Amino acid sequence: MTNIKNSEEYRKNLTPLAYQVTRHGATEPPFSGEFYNHKSSGLYLCICCGTKLFSSVDKYDSGTGWPSFKDTLSKQNIKETEDLSHNMVRTEVKCASCDAHLGHLFNDGPLPTSKRYCINSVSLAFKEF
Ligand code: FE
Repeated sequence: MTNIKNSEEYRKNLTPLAYQVTRHGATEPPFSGEFYNHKSSGLYLCICCGTKLFSSVDKYDSGTGWPSFKDTLSKQNIKETEDLSHNMVRTEVKCASCDAHLGHLFNDGPLPTSKRYCINSVSLAFKEF
């Protein structure tokens, strides 16, 4: 089920950077976000709609400066699409419910998944277990 609001509502409820990242696919500067070095146990939710996206259980330190996860909480809550921007072939990761841009998926993560979900801090809210 999709849950997309109009852009005025997003603009009102998000910081300018979170708005640019989630609704227009921008990227926060590395090592700048709230969560790249965040180690508490809990769930990471979509900042726009509250959908549960990632768990601290799958979070690891990739050294990139963005929160990185080796898996999603539930495949159904995430949408993965091909992104050909900036002369690169990448997999874009979005919230399946509200279409918020979250980040990108790379295949150089830790075993056994080898996945690295590279996610903007500003796209996430945190809820302790
Ligand atoms: Fe969402």
